[in-house]
Amino acid sequence: MFYRFLLFFLLLMLLTPFVIHKNSEIDTTVQLPNENSIPTSKIPMTPKTPYIAVLGIAQDAGFPQAACQKACCKRTVEQPESKRLVSCLALIDPISQQRWLLDATPDFREQLQRLDSLQVGVKEEYLSGIFLTHAHIGHYTGLMHLGREVMGTKEVKVYAMPRMSSFLTNNAPWSQLLILQNIALQPLENEETVVLNERLKVTPYLVPHRDEFSETVGFKIEGTSKSALFIPDIDKWHLWNRDILKEIKKVDYAFLDATFYANGEIAGRDMSEIPHPFIEESLTLFADLPAKEKAKVHFIHFNHTNPVLDESSEAYHRVSDLGFKVAKEMAVMEL
Ligand SMILES: [Zn+2]
Ligand SMILES: [Zn+2]
Ligand SMILES: [Zn+2]
Repeated sequence: MFYRFLLFFLLLMLLTPFVIHKNSEIDTTVQLPNENSIPTSKIPMTPKTPYIAVLGIAQDAGFPQAACQKACCKRTVEQPESKRLVSCLALIDPISQQRWLLDATPDFREQLQRLDSLQVGVKEEYLSGIFLTHAHIGHYTGLMHLGREVMGTKEVKVYAMPRMSSFLTNNAPWSQLLILQNIALQPLENEETVVLNERLKVTPYLVPHRDEFSETVGFKIEGTSKSALFIPDIDKWHLWNRDILKEIKKVDYAFLDATFYANGEIAGRDMSEIPHPFIEESLTLFADLPAKEKAKVHFIHFNHTNPVLDESSEAYHRVSDLGFKVAKEMAVMEL
C-alpha cells in the first residue's frame, strides 16, 4: 500500500511542471468555445486580470453576406457553425467589473450575448463604454440597440473622433440617442490617450480610409503588462504616416485589416475603389519580421470572399504556416 502511494506521489511530482507550463501558455491566448455551441456552464475560466476578447472577425457585412449565392456563403447553410460575426473586440477588466467594446457592429445583439457568456460582473450601466473606429456600417450601427426601442440605456459613454461625433449628432436616428441621453459622447483626439482606469488605456490613431462620413482611427490598447493594436480598416499600409512594421514591434498583439486575400477577389468590381491591404501584400511586407513578431499578427475583418474564413483552405494554411494568425472568435488575450 505504502509503495503504491509513493509511486503515485512520485508520478504527481513528475507531472506538476507540465501542468503549470500548460496553464501559463493558455493564459496568453485562450480559445473559448462559441457559446452558441457550448452550454455556459462549460465555458472555461477567463483571466482574473484585464483581457481582450475577440467577439467577431468578419468585414462589415458579416459572413454570410446578404444575397451572396456563391460557394463561400452557401457553405454557411450546410455548416451554420462556420458563420462569423462582424469584427469587434471587447476589453474586459474583471477587477473593476468593467467592459468596453471596440466598435458597435450590426451583430451587437449576439456580441453582447458572447460578452455575457464571459461572466464578468458589471458595475456600470451594462457597458462601461464603446470606442468607435469610423462611420462605415460594420462599425457603429449597433448603437441602435442602445435606444428607446431596445435597451434604453442611460448615458453609455461613446468615444468618438470629432467628425464621427458630429455625424452622430447631426443625423437621425443616431441624434435621438443623444437627445434621449441613451449615449454620452466622449471626445477623442488623434494620439491622445484615454485612461480608463489604473490598468487600462486606449489611444486612437488616424489611419487613411474612405472617409465619406467620418475620419477613421485604429486603437492601441495598453494593459499593465501587455498591449495591442486594432486596425480593422485601412486603405494600404504604405499610405499610413506610421510604419506598420515598427508598430507591430511596439505591441504584443496586432489585429490588422485583412479584408481581402488577393487582388481580383471580387469579380467584376474595381478593387481600387475599395482599397485594403491584401493579405498577400501584408505577407510580403511582413516577410522579414522575426518569428516572434509574426506571431503577434492576428489578421481580422474578412470579407465573405476571403478564403482564410475556411480553415481547411490553402490560403488559411499558408498564413499559419508562415507564422501569422487568423483571428478567432472568442479568443481571449491577457493584457
Ligand atoms: Zn469595416
Ligand atoms: Zn459569399
Ligand atoms: Zn470602413
